[in-house]
Amino acid sequence: MLSLEEMPKKWYNILPDLPEPLPPPLNPATKEPIAPSDLEVIFPKALIAQEMSSENYIDIPEEVLDAYQMITRPSPLQRAVRLEEKLKTPAKIYFKREDLSPAGSHKTNTAFAQTYYNLKEGVEKLTTETGAGQWGTALSMACNHFGLKCEVFMVRASYDQKPYRKVMMRLFGADVSPSPSNLTEFGKKLLAEDKNHPGSLGIAISEALQVCVKDEKAKYSLGSVLNHVMLHQTIIGQEAMLQFQKLGEQPDYLVGCVGGGSNFAGFTFPFIGQKLKGKLDTEFVAVEPTVVPTLTGGKYEYDFGDTAEMTPLLMMYTLGHAFVPSPIHAGGLRYHGAAPTVSALTNAGIVKAVAYQQKEVFDAAAMFARAEGIVPAPETAHAVKAVIDLALEAKEKNEEKIIAFNFSGHGLLDLAGYEHYLDGNLE
Ligand SMILES: *Cc1c(COP(=O)(O)O)cnc(C)c1O
Repeated sequence: MLSLEEMPKKWYNILPDLPEPLPPPLNPATKEPIAPSDLEVIFPKALIAQEMSSENYIDIPEEVLDAYQMITRPSPLQRAVRLEEKLKTPAKIYFKREDLSPAGSHKTNTAFAQTYYNLKEGVEKLTTETGAGQWGTALSMACNHFGLKCEVFMVRASYDQKPYRKVMMRLFGADVSPSPSNLTEFGKKLLAEDKNHPGSLGIAISEALQVCVKDEKAKYSLGSVLNHVMLHQTIIGQEAMLQFQKLGEQPDYLVGCVGGGSNFAGFTFPFIGQKLKGKLDTEFVAVEPTVVPTLTGGKYEYDFGDTAEMTPLLMMYTLGHAFVPSPIHAGGLRYHGAAPTVSALTNAGIVKAVAYQQKEVFDAAAMFARAEGIVPAPETAHAVKAVIDLALEAKEKNEEKIIAFNFSGHGLLDLAGYEHYLDGNLE
């Protein structure tokens, strides 16, 4: 545990420490780097500045530090002693408790920051997309706290499968529509082609953007992928670094699941910064589903962030912006791309990526839940699976490795997925 006084007061920005400058976002029409002012229709100036900042550390505003107490920061770094015993491994396993946020995941770390900067610039409403609903819940909670309106486009497959996320967003005052919807031109077009369209994150992003650009008082908010989102999440890794210092230990492995890359980045970037300076030996493992193999099977190239081709082109690992992911329970990992920063570090060999099947991931999650009494989100369960494999490898080699992972969220609103698993209905 850290005391409140020990909570870091700055975010860590990895951009100036990267081995090579990050390839810039491009205007799709001209293929030239976009000007910061091009983004002002959808983002406040403060976040655009953070997106391109060359400062190593950025002060966390007082109001956001206050909100961080509300979302249970600083969060504990806990040891999974009972899981270690069950595995009979000499390895030590630690996990960082991002599931303790009342919204259920790490996503509140950036939701509160983004909402605050929008409020400061006079924005009255935020539009966004959500897949499984964790991001929509986090942003609804932050908008409610700072007094902004919130409109959420939720991927239809999840909207139907996960009714309780929707209720939570509405409780915090958000308007929630299934995507594709009849509220946008793009949504109408897709519904005309298929009235039962399951939707995707790429489509929901397009809809949220279309609503935002038509409303002068609204801006758009993204829950992952962009540099400023990774920045806000570094509160996780900086706390973890202090916690390891207090323990007098250094992790051999840091593990996290990757959808857009934000919880992985938040947990690892402060450590990766140290490794790039030659001060640390840690290895970094990014975990994804085999059916959405962005880092392990995608191409490293410029692509759109959304399906309707409205966003700038980003240099990233991508499966193509028309990719329609299969409806696995880890809705938060069903995205065609990955953050440009995480992609660049993977391409440079600093981050290693692995992929697992849904069934083995749920086996690992069930083992963790039975050992530690905590139910992982299906996304988090991917990291759990990789950690168990590393701990078993340490056992085989009889090595006392220190393995830590980011426990990105709890699965208490994903019990339908666990029910399928227990009934033997997972493919
Ligand atoms: C959204 C989410 C993810 C995936 O998103 P990243 O940006 O890759 O972190 C992972 N775990 C949980 C619990 C989530 O809510």
